[in-house]
Parts: sequence; C-alpha cells; structure tokens
Amino acid sequence: MALNNSNSIDKDWYLIKKITPYLYLIQENFEKIDSHYYTSFTNMYLIIGSHTALLFDTGTGIVNLKPYIKPIIKNHELIVINSHNHFDHVGGNYFFEETMIHRLDFKKLTKNMDLRFLSSSNSIVKNYLEKINYELSFANSMVPLNGDEVFELGGLKVNVIYTPGHTPGSICLYLDTGEIFTGDTFQLGAIFLPSTEIVNDYIVSLNKILNIATKFPNPKLYPGHEKIGLSINYIHELINTINLIETKTPVIDNHIISKIYDFTDFKLIFSME
Ligand SMILES: [Zn+2]
Ligand SMILES: [Zn+2]
Repeated sequence: MALNNSNSIDKDWYLIKKITPYLYLIQENFEKIDSHYYTSFTNMYLIIGSHTALLFDTGTGIVNLKPYIKPIIKNHELIVINSHNHFDHVGGNYFFEETMIHRLDFKKLTKNMDLRFLSSSNSIVKNYLEKINYELSFANSMVPLNGDEVFELGGLKVNVIYTPGHTPGSICLYLDTGEIFTGDTFQLGAIFLPSTEIVNDYIVSLNKILNIATKFPNPKLYPGHEKIGLSINYIHELINTINLIETKTPVIDNHIISKIYDFTDFKLIFSME
C-alpha cells in the first residue's frame, strides 16, 4: 500500500528537475531512508517523446510516484523500465500497470518486498514502515527484456544496452541525442559489485558504454545515484581505479557486510555475503 495524501511524508518526497525539453530528473532522498549505503539521492528519469513517455526506475515505492509525474506525462503512453532489481529502483513498480526489466534480474521479483533490512530511517519514514509492516506490494505485471531493445517515443529513440556487473541483469539506456542512463552500473561515488569474480565482466560492460559514447559529439552520463550530466571521462577514470585495487587495503563495513576500496572519486564496494 502507499501513503495517503494526508500523511506528511508524501509532500515533497521527490524532487523533480527539468534537464532538457524532453528529460526530467526525479530524485528520492535516500539518506532519509537508510544512511548506510553511501548514497544521498536515487535518480529516476522521465523521457518525453511526442507520443510516449518512458520512466527509468521507480524508486523505493515508499511514496506514490504517480501523482508527481502525471502533470508531465499528461496523455502520453507510458513505458516503465527498471535498470536492475534492487529495492531502491523497483520498489514503486506496483504503482504502474506494467514494468520491464532484463530477464536475468526478473526472477527475484515475484513476491512482496521485505524492507526489514532498513535500519537507520528517520522517524517519519520509520513510523510509516512500521505501519505497513516493512512490506511493499509487488509489481502488477512484469515483462522481461533481452537487453537489445529500441523504444520509439516519437522524435526520440531509447536504446537498451545490456551491462551486467552490478547485478546479472543490469541495463543502461541511451538516447540518440547522447544521454546515457547508467542505473547503478556507473555513478560518481560508490560502485557496488557482488564479488571480485565479476570484475572482468563489469569492465566489459563499462567498455560497452564507452563504445556507445563514441557515436556522439558530447555524450553525458546520467547515473542512478548522485551527480548527473557527467563526462564520459569518469568511466575511463573508474576503469583505471579498478586496476589499482591491488595497491589498496580494503576497509570492512560490517553493516552492509562488504569490503571497501576507498579512492578519491570512487569507493569500490564488494559484497562479502
Ligand atoms: Zn543497485
Ligand atoms: Zn541503487
């Protein structure tokens, strides 16, 4: 269930910014929800073509996203796509009729979401989570993607890129105008990876993004968390940083059961579970 409108946490929960005439950023403040994940904001994106709108990610689902985006979408058709299956990106799927996700991230999305692992929410969020018994409804209908789809929004094409690493079914999207939406595959700050064994696959995915970027005179990165509109040079820097892991001693974070290699622009965080 979602909060009703009289509840105070509903108001101003999402911050919406118009980036270009066809692109909106929707931010959810992650620190209010749990401060253990080295992130302040989750970024969702709304891309508006002449007849169809595309929403990339749905946030935690703690507050209904639909009333916030309805005035922007108006009468457009709506396509909803998840970058991957983590709770901060798929939680709001149940507000929408249908959501698409890569088939390798599809399988874990079959039951209600248990949010009991959240432990440092502020008091308003905590009260709400207690009221719903730390459980969110799951998506109405899910459609699996292969990772090579193209969506025509009317004057704008959205292309899917398959970029495994952060999760087995992580995808990125890019527009034919040069914006690349990276989900959690790339962000400036914390890079979460499930194990050190997938590093090589992950670097292949980063190179895929670099390769796509060469098609455009001025490509820009729009990550699933933190800063947006970033230069592609940060991906080169990330690859160089990953290659320096062996020169660093990791720090253990017992709360998220991970080891962290802390560099200037990136924290490489490997799960130890
Ligand atoms: Zn994630
Ligand atoms: Zn995330």
